[in-house]
Amino acid sequence: MANILEVDNVTKTFGGIVALQDVSISVPERGVVGLIGPNGSGKTTLFNVVSGFYVPDKGEVWYHNGGNSERIDGLNPNEVFAKGIVRTFQIPRLFKSLTVLENLLLTPFGQKGEHPLKAINPETWQEEEKALAKKAIELLNRFGLLEYANVRVSELSGAHMKLIETIRGLMTPARVFLLDEPAAGVEATAAHNLFRLVRELNANGYTFLIVEHRIEVMMQYVDYVYVLHNGQLLAEGKPDEVVSDKRVIEAYLGD
Ligand code: ADP
Repeated sequence: MANILEVDNVTKTFGGIVALQDVSISVPERGVVGLIGPNGSGKTTLFNVVSGFYVPDKGEVWYHNGGNSERIDGLNPNEVFAKGIVRTFQIPRLFKSLTVLENLLLTPFGQKGEHPLKAINPETWQEEEKALAKKAIELLNRFGLLEYANVRVSELSGAHMKLIETIRGLMTPARVFLLDEPAAGVEATAAHNLFRLVRELNANGYTFLIVEHRIEVMMQYVDYVYVLHNGQLLAEGKPDEVVSDKRVIEAYLGD
């Protein structure tokens, strides 16, 4: 399968800290790729480079969308999102005073520039908004969270906030999803549920790059894994190859 996303020799430094050094990874179209590594290994920095939050010091990021190949490093987050790439955050970025459903209808970058408060009044919903509400309700239902639809986010547990953050990403019309620790703090059944949904969406044509600390869960669902350590690529391969790689085990033990 052709690659939809390519990170080529990316270096990113912060003052004297080399957060990423000559890192290259590829995400095949319709792939589900994992990105792991001990704390401070550069995973978040890599996500920030791909999603437009950081400009790399060196290297390139390419997006091959259908017949169209373009460099996306240096674009801002809104521009990257407009290309069809969405990321979720390790720490949920939700509107805490709004309800769960309102948060899901306010997809991260707004729908066609309409006033966000419009989403709150169902009487003003157009067909597209009705379809979005339907999608939100379906997703909430899948995670057993429908009863929270009209609850303010500030009243949710951390685990539920985390799931809503991921569902919010899945609400967008993106083709490529960058999920930052979607299973963090989430109980096992919900975490497996989430990864099963990832596989289902993947079967429908969507691509995923996923950072996750819950390796034991994620490894059952990804096709390929990259391992970062001290800002460099330490290993890559199929999940079973990576988990039995001595260098990977040592890097984690040293964490
Ligand atoms: P991970 O997500 O794997 O835990 P990060 O990408 O957050 O790793 O961090 C990689 C390294 O870069 C760490 O040493 C971290 O302290 C440093 N770093 C990340 N972001 C910044 C920043 N904005 N300013 C300074 N240092 C940073």
